[in-house]
Amino acid sequence: MKLWERLFVRATVVEAETTGRFRRLRLRAAALGTADWRPGQQVRLDVGAKGAMTPLLRTYSVWSRAGDTIELQALLHGDGPGAVWMGAAQAGDEVLLSKPKGDFVTRPAAYHLFVGEETASVAFGPMLRALPAAERAASRAVVEIDGPADRLDLDGDVTWVERAGASAASSQRLLKAVQTLDLPQEPGHAYVAGEARTVQAVRQHLVHDRGWPRRSVLTKPFWTPGKRGME
Ligand SMILES: Cc1cc2nc3c(=O)[nH]c(=O)nc-3n(C[C@H](O)[C@H](O)[C@H](O)COP(=O)(O)OP(=O)(O)OC[C@H]3O[C@@H](n4cnc5c(N)ncnc54)[C@H](O)[C@@H]3O)c2cc1C
Repeated sequence: MKLWERLFVRATVVEAETTGRFRRLRLRAAALGTADWRPGQQVRLDVGAKGAMTPLLRTYSVWSRAGDTIELQALLHGDGPGAVWMGAAQAGDEVLLSKPKGDFVTRPAAYHLFVGEETASVAFGPMLRALPAAERAASRAVVEIDGPADRLDLDGDVTWVERAGASAASSQRLLKAVQTLDLPQEPGHAYVAGEARTVQAVRQHLVHDRGWPRRSVLTKPFWTPGKRGME
């Protein structure tokens, strides 16, 4: 066994299903049942060829966990190794993955604002579900999708912004939707994820135009054009 393989968990795909452009995978491993997981955290999968000397890692948020089984939702966006592996994965396949980790998790706040596109909505789902009911009721989400088939089931008050075939990079549509959002005067806590340039523009708006403290805006770039495997 190679050294890096010791750091990973070997999981089995127990279910795989495509809805719209999302591929939903359920992965089971005994070690996943005892691993810490906070909603918003992610795992890294080795999507490279079996037996390769080094792993080829791609990052996916954990959509849910039940016992020793986690569920992922991968956007089939193109022919990168992550999307190809996810698209082809079938029940019975095995994969090496890291345990869940990351600091893209909710902070205590009077209300929460979630902004991003499809890939970010995978992290938002469990973050919203885990909020106390009163905080969830006061929260807002603005999610850009290509079309209705890409809507994941998110709890709470969600504004869906459709781009209908346009690029999700540097999205003026998503930025405008946040700019026109009717928010309380006092800042809450924002979680902005997805395409890196859009993330930056939304952060700028919240900090410079709305006067939110920098520490109240948590950002996580997930991908950007031309960059492979962002993390
Ligand atoms: C913390 C974190 C959590 C993430 N969670 C999820 C998740 O739950 N579900 C999910 O689907 N993705 C998620 N992502 C994004 C995912 O890791 C990237 O999309 C990754 O690049 C996919 O790998 P790939 O091999 O398919 O493409 P790559 O080889 O990495 O990239 C190939 C090309 O595709 C482009 N590309 C990458 N992603 C997209 C996209 N979404 N839309 C359009 N073009 C794209 C790249 O810019 C590049 O030009 C997450 C990323 C991070 C950092």
